[in-house]
Amino acid sequence: MRRNSPRVNPGLISDSPLWPRFNEYVIENQHGESVILPAGNAKIEYYSPFKEKELLCDFIVMTNDLRKMPNDYKPLLRFANSYGLFGLIHELEHDNNRQFFEIYKHHCFPRCFPNEPPDMANIDEWHYNYGEPIAITIEKTLEIRLCYDLWGKFKKAKATPEDISPFGLPWKQYLKEINVYPIGVELHYDGKYWQTRYTNSSLFVALKLMIIQNCVTKDQPVETCDICGNPYFAYNEKQEYCSQACRNSINVKKHRQKEKLENVRKAIILREEGKNNEEIADIIGVKRPQTIERWLNEFRIKKEGE
Ligand SMILES: [Zn+2]
Repeated sequence: MRRNSPRVNPGLISDSPLWPRFNEYVIENQHGESVILPAGNAKIEYYSPFKEKELLCDFIVMTNDLRKMPNDYKPLLRFANSYGLFGLIHELEHDNNRQFFEIYKHHCFPRCFPNEPPDMANIDEWHYNYGEPIAITIEKTLEIRLCYDLWGKFKKAKATPEDISPFGLPWKQYLKEINVYPIGVELHYDGKYWQTRYTNSSLFVALKLMIIQNCVTKDQPVETCDICGNPYFAYNEKQEYCSQACRNSINVKKHRQKEKLENVRKAIILREEGKNNEEIADIIGVKRPQTIERWLNEFRIKKEGE
């Protein structure tokens, strides 16, 4: 997805290691489960996730779609066709549960099963045979999306880190959910300079790093629009909506609310003066007298609730 983004880099401090992606992925049923894999004749290339300005935005769009249609795998396929697979197996490896990893590697290499996966020494072949079971991938993907949302909730609450969150713990405690472990750092020579380089064992880790960086950056962070849910680069801290269209729609909404409030006030006064619904509707310029009845009822309920 293309957006007019002047942001030079996604905010990561260093250059970054490469991640594999094939030019085409497919979803296959392998040994009774849906798996996303490189297509039969797909070509591999290696790219730098941190140089992809739209990656976090596209991730948000993809997870928005998954939330709306959990049984539609097309958004996942579209994302893979742009950025490759997530590196789920590396996450399993870090689960400190070697046994779990041993079991799961067969699900991640269904084309090899029941034989062992290819040797890591032949990395292209290893990637070609590597696939990700859809169910667990979606679960993990939505978990990471929650990390992004958590920061949004904190910002929206306009709370301090010490304030108690609606989830019971102080925000600063709760926000630790966003943290990412483990992370590697490399000493890297770029042909001219020595650099510090963060390594990401999976695209999941890269995404979590981007989310953390997005929390701290003042340089056009990726926000989501309250109206349509789409991500956008916030040019300044006051920008709350993705586009002029969404800003207009909230202004229209606010204007209508204000207008209604004024009319309700007028209706209350007219009722106190002894006018009936038909007369009030006529004076205010409302078509249906029933609307006046509804407004006055709403007002009564609101007042009783106070
Ligand atoms: Zn919007």
